[in-house]
Amino acid sequence: MKRCSRCQAELEASETFSVGDALLCEDCYLERMAQPKACDPWAVYSAKKTAEHYGELTPVQQRILDLLAAEGPLPAAALRTRLDLTETEFRNQFATLRHMEKARACKQGDQVCYTLFAAD
Ligand SMILES: [Zn+2]
Repeated sequence: MKRCSRCQAELEASETFSVGDALLCEDCYLERMAQPKACDPWAVYSAKKTAEHYGELTPVQQRILDLLAAEGPLPAAALRTRLDLTETEFRNQFATLRHMEKARACKQGDQVCYTLFAAD
């Protein structure tokens, strides 16, 4: 059994995400992808704080969920094109959705896709 190189969780093949040489679980993968800059912990902190304390979706987050509900799972490139988001915007918005347990990453073959949290 492989293990996440960050949190050491055991990894199922369908939940294994590689970033460079590292193998990561879905949680750590999204956390990693959402880091806007290595030296900017406040952006990550405020995304978590907002999700935990307010639980309100922004219009962009609602559009991501609507699109995933209608057509998901979708890869990031398709979501960003359809919703006209930059990569950074998408990652940060998605990290908040993940913290709220509204949406998550999944694997379709070798491709990383995004789907509703409750969807299989
Ligand atoms: Zn992990």
